[in-house]
Amino acid sequence: MNILRVALDVPLPCLFDYNGGKTRVVAGQRVLVPFGARQVIGIVVECLDTTEVPSARLKSILQAYDNEAAIPASTSKLVRFCADYYQYPFGQALLSALPSRLREARPAQAPTKTVYKLTEQGQALDVKQLPKNAAVRKKLITALQQTEHLDAATMQQVAKTWRNAIKLLMENGLVTAHEVESGALTGSPAAANELPLNPSQQAALQAILENGRVFQGFLLHGITGSGKTEVYMQLLRSVLQQPRAQALVLVPEINLTPQLEARFRARFPQLPMVMLHSKMNESERLHGWLAAQSGEARIVIGTRLSVFTPLPHLALIVVDEEHDASYKQQDGMRYSARDVAVMRGKMANVPVLLGSATPALETWYNAQSGRYRLLEIHQRAVAGAELPRISCLDVRGLPVDQAFSPHVIAALRARMQRGEQSLLFLNRRGYSPVLLCSQCNWVVPCKRCSSRLVVHKRDRLLRCHHCGHEQRFPQACPECGNIELKPIGQGTQRLEEVLAQQLPEARILRVDSDSMRRKHAVAEMSQQVHAGEVDILVGTQMLAKGHDFPNLTLVVVVDADSALFSPDFRAAERLFAQLMQVAGRAGRAGKAGEVVIQTAFPDHLLFHALQSHDYPAFAQTLLEERKLAHFPPYCFEALLRAEATSWEQVQAFMRDAAASAAAIPHPLTVYDPVRPRMERLKGLERAQLLVQAGTRQALQKFLQVWVAALRTLPQAAKVRWSVDVDPLEY
Ligand SMILES: [Zn+2]
Ligand SMILES: [Zn+2]
Repeated sequence: MNILRVALDVPLPCLFDYNGGKTRVVAGQRVLVPFGARQVIGIVVECLDTTEVPSARLKSILQAYDNEAAIPASTSKLVRFCADYYQYPFGQALLSALPSRLREARPAQAPTKTVYKLTEQGQALDVKQLPKNAAVRKKLITALQQTEHLDAATMQQVAKTWRNAIKLLMENGLVTAHEVESGALTGSPAAANELPLNPSQQAALQAILENGRVFQGFLLHGITGSGKTEVYMQLLRSVLQQPRAQALVLVPEINLTPQLEARFRARFPQLPMVMLHSKMNESERLHGWLAAQSGEARIVIGTRLSVFTPLPHLALIVVDEEHDASYKQQDGMRYSARDVAVMRGKMANVPVLLGSATPALETWYNAQSGRYRLLEIHQRAVAGAELPRISCLDVRGLPVDQAFSPHVIAALRARMQRGEQSLLFLNRRGYSPVLLCSQCNWVVPCKRCSSRLVVHKRDRLLRCHHCGHEQRFPQACPECGNIELKPIGQGTQRLEEVLAQQLPEARILRVDSDSMRRKHAVAEMSQQVHAGEVDILVGTQMLAKGHDFPNLTLVVVVDADSALFSPDFRAAERLFAQLMQVAGRAGRAGKAGEVVIQTAFPDHLLFHALQSHDYPAFAQTLLEERKLAHFPPYCFEALLRAEATSWEQVQAFMRDAAASAAAIPHPLTVYDPVRPRMERLKGLERAQLLVQAGTRQALQKFLQVWVAALRTLPQAAKVRWSVDVDPLEY
């Protein structure tokens, strides 16, 4: 018999047998099968001769697609490992690794796209012949003359208003449009030269190249502005000299900017490259995925989700900003793309390079213990670019309602006079974090979460930043009838307002997820800053990463104190990384940079470490604390979370979950169920239960038995629950 064992996108930890009939199907191929009353897409995992399913119940597949494997064996193996490790149903994990177009019941047809090509007349054209005011047309012709053809995305990079210009060029018979298959990856308009490496960049590159094409984890620890990207690119150039070799470069979502893409495209004009990230539409994603899977794309740059992209000739994996929390998936299979990347490198036997200015403590520990090789870059890449001078400004004594010390205003004014730019960093959007009754201290709460509503003054709304709930300002305090309700504390909108009063001549631009909601807002912002049309940026962490503004010389951290005393044991690590990132924005291009941190705790150890730019010393202190407290990386954790509209149901589930843990013999620490800091979220009551183990193996062994038991609990169907292995949020 032709039995197909199929993985389906259903929340069950098993595979399903179907009769393949006379259809010849290979492992990894997509099939359409009946499941209950539905028809669903599945992936064939194995082809067998027999099954234990009685023939009366054995159903037949309805159709097989594509005549070839959508998922190669290596990807299937990696997903299998992750599904086991993260305690998630294999079928769901496998299907969610596919672009959504491949989860639809139709052949994986590569979409076509339009490319533009010069006619003979266009090729022969001297751009000087075009009219004076045809700047965009000149740019497009010049770009097209350097390559075979260009697609819309590349045109967009050459000139934003390319559409009208290309129309004119087509009317004049200089350019023609063609439909090409997905596979046809287009080149880049121009090649950019490599930058010279300084000795420590050179040493890092050399060490990785000498390792050869076998698995080894490397940690590239380079201060901000040290030119890690240049090392990645020269490494890629060497590795990709081997015919067909492919490289996977993972970046946090926020770093995957058009500038980064343009930089890579300009450096590797001949190598087909694809981007994979969540902002792409479905056909773009399918196109990129197929190009990677077929081996045609030589470079894949993507965010978290691209770590599972099939790459038949994978030769190198780079994980940029490896400490970034966005590598951790927070729903479905809660994997860490960084950790999966290392596992993938091991399975494929290729080197994995993790890069960061402030590595995750777990990664630093691995580098210290010799699991990863540590490579360090101590200088900034641009000759003469010094690290910014960081100082703390004691704000004790500053009136509570005053956002800035006079010193900050003076420093901002001085920058404006010199024609330089400043950045005010406050990681809190909105106008103010609370609306408070001045009589009885009542604050407006969210009806659906254990949180307070944030004042958005311009929209005349109160908004919950956790669930999105919005409401109008209350007329009066419902507790005491007082009509005087005051916004308390600073958000970016308020900073912008205060600043405009104190420095009326300043051109201020606020950069947060409220002001940057429009599609090209971030690109426009970046252009405005580069063009010198902005004096002061007021922004959240959106500005802390990736951007490189050469004329920015002052960074003011308005308020970071609340994070100093967070109950989360990772808060200090994160704050250090964030402040290091934001400080790194100052003085990148040879001009002296200055960072001023307003704080009521200027003697805090974290600020001392920051001032001396000493990540290793700070990391050492944190590691010692973690060791004493028996926290990761000195233990291994899993967190069971549950939520439901009824608190009784959550409680009952957690009680049973704790009881079933107690019934398993194990050497672990199983804590009592507790309520998380956010007790209610989006109208759901929540609880969680933490387990800690001395070794990964012990944790895995326990979870295997426990999670299976959890699935059989009577309450399991009544609450939403999940297991998070190596959790980052508590
Ligand atoms: Zn009141
Ligand atoms: Zn809410």
